[in-house]
Amino acid sequence: MDNKVMFNLSYGLYVLTTKEKDKENGCIINTAMQQTSEPNCISVTVNKQNYTEQMIHKTGVFNISIIDETASFDLFRHFGFQSGKDVDKFAEYPDSRTAANKIPYISKGTNAYLSVKVVDEIDLGTHTLFLAEVTDGEVLSKEASMTYAYYHANVKPKPQAPKSEGKVWVCKICGYTYDEAKEGIAFEDLPADWVCPLCKHGKADFELVNKQN
Ligand code: FE
Repeated sequence: MDNKVMFNLSYGLYVLTTKEKDKENGCIINTAMQQTSEPNCISVTVNKQNYTEQMIHKTGVFNISIIDETASFDLFRHFGFQSGKDVDKFAEYPDSRTAANKIPYISKGTNAYLSVKVVDEIDLGTHTLFLAEVTDGEVLSKEASMTYAYYHANVKPKPQAPKSEGKVWVCKICGYTYDEAKEGIAFEDLPADWVCPLCKHGKADFELVNKQN
């Protein structure tokens, strides 16, 4: 099978935010979609490596902020490429507001948010799929929603081919570079479950950006 068929599915991009006691947290997902309108029900799938996923297990409530085409790469870096285990993503974060459910939503680079309550969940191994009922929401702007294709074409940094003694591999998702000369281990020799230190995507999402000398 040609695995490229999967690239032709289209996705939006979202900041999923939640709160457990005083801890507020959020992550980037591309897997929110409406499933039924009566009741108004959505599904989201969240990587279990995200701290946000563990918080939703306990609280069962979260917000989905819909990212629009004005969002900068900084939004993705802030919510996507660092963990809520290590940093407080809402400490002095200026572009959030608090929804009626007391959970923050993102107010810049987003065109709407939804508040939801989990009604069911399915363990998918690496991820958990949450089914959730929409309880509230608000339109924030008239900007077009950002698709994953738009992000790849216009938002993420263009890979630069750096000068190096060895091969350089770049993560197609976040732009992280793996320079074999600096790391001392050939990219092909990394274990199969190795993930990008920034965005946690796997080896398959890396591409070689220079030719070996
Ligand atoms: Fe990455």
